Amino acid sequence: MYAISGILYLEPMRNASLVKRDLAVLWHPCTQMKDHEDLPPVPIRSGYGVWLEDFDGRRYIDAISSWWVNLFGHANPRINTAISSQLASLEQVILAGFTHQPIIELSERLTAIAPAGLGHCFYADSGSAAVEIALKMSFHYWRNCGHPQRTRFIGLSNGYHGETLGALSVGDVALYCETYEPLLQKNITVPSPDCYLREAGESCADFSRRMIEPMRQALEQHANQVCAVIVEPLVQCAGGMRMYDPVYLQLLRQACNEHGVHLIADEIAVGFGRTGTMFACEQAGIRPDILCIGKGLTGGYLPLSACLTSDDIYAAFYAEYTTQRAFLHSHSYTGNPLACAAALATLDIFRDDDVLNRNRTLAAHMARAVAPLAGHPHVGEVRQTGMIAAVEMAKNGKTREPYPWQERRGRLVYRHALERGAILRPLGDVIYFMPPYVITPEEIERLGVIALEGIEMATEN
Ligand SMILES: *Cc1c(COP(=O)(O)O)cnc(C)c1O
Repeated sequence: MYAISGILYLEPMRNASLVKRDLAVLWHPCTQMKDHEDLPPVPIRSGYGVWLEDFDGRRYIDAISSWWVNLFGHANPRINTAISSQLASLEQVILAGFTHQPIIELSERLTAIAPAGLGHCFYADSGSAAVEIALKMSFHYWRNCGHPQRTRFIGLSNGYHGETLGALSVGDVALYCETYEPLLQKNITVPSPDCYLREAGESCADFSRRMIEPMRQALEQHANQVCAVIVEPLVQCAGGMRMYDPVYLQLLRQACNEHGVHLIADEIAVGFGRTGTMFACEQAGIRPDILCIGKGLTGGYLPLSACLTSDDIYAAFYAEYTTQRAFLHSHSYTGNPLACAAALATLDIFRDDDVLNRNRTLAAHMARAVAPLAGHPHVGEVRQTGMIAAVEMAKNGKTREPYPWQERRGRLVYRHALERGAILRPLGDVIYFMPPYVITPEEIERLGVIALEGIEMATEN
């Protein structure tokens, strides 16, 4: 036995040998594994700040925050310390019937920074699980309140809420849901206020105001069978970083109130400063009934997610056990103490380092870095909300006629960026920067150059 494992480790730890071992035993997420025949996965040896280093010693700027989770860099000394000191006292404990200090403090601090009136936190271990919880909780609320006929949800076209079946059923990105359609609950999809779709000369705000109409109609028609409307506030991230105006959220909040339907804000990707405010909902001055958070919650260290719920929802479940109103949902690792310690350290950094203000300067640098791409003949739009900047490649930049998806132009940019030392994993033909908040102006500038080169190259013919 020892000899066998010994042989493995005698091989030099280089990219090639690790890739070979990887492909023999791993099945990677969101990947056609055959693609790795010409573009192998990159084995990462270490990370520091915005940088990741592979086993051949090449370094990459993590421009997408390792799938939108990392906020304050890899190997952040403050988060590292918080996790190790938590590790010394308690790694995990069942959260039913028991509790622990990090999760109490985290819940106090989350309810304090979230929109007022979201008084309780229910935890899970992934964004998708948080969305499942939000859907079940809303449905169960109406059941507890004597409206069991409310069984459906309204989502936006091009919306994304995760990959589990319930989450897919309120999403609308064909790439992820289409295949599984026969398995999904029949929900209602309403056209998105996505500003990319506005008429020429129309402002985003005007378009957002116009697009509340189909939502109002859907609510009028279906309100008594609908539990909740679920949206990604301000940016439909997985749908290609499509953006819309905060006024839509205000009008949506009003419409949900008028029809007595919950509003679920899925801030799993946009929460924690990504759009410029701590939570995107703040820009519309609204409070959702359920706020889903995940991804950046632990600074990108450990899997943790949560649903923050309104006091009204919490109260509808609070009753004698025999009334059978309790929310009996659970996951094994719910509220893991190590993850909570990472989340607390992350909130400390927000509190101590004036992060949101400093991000305004970084966002301005991001705007400058992508500006040269506006007006490029093969760019349909350059857009930005806070710390997300996106460039949408198009066959015809003016008419926004897209490239046939089979051409996979975005993948060419990805490959080029890897060669140049940056991770720019595209969404189809949308290239975007969504970097950790510890990126420097110089590094942003460098990303701009790499993106420009890559897009030039990918759209050459
Ligand atoms: C990523 C994401 C999810 C799913 O989170 P996972 O942790 O990947 O399950 C849900 N909603 C939105 C808006 C997301 O971006």
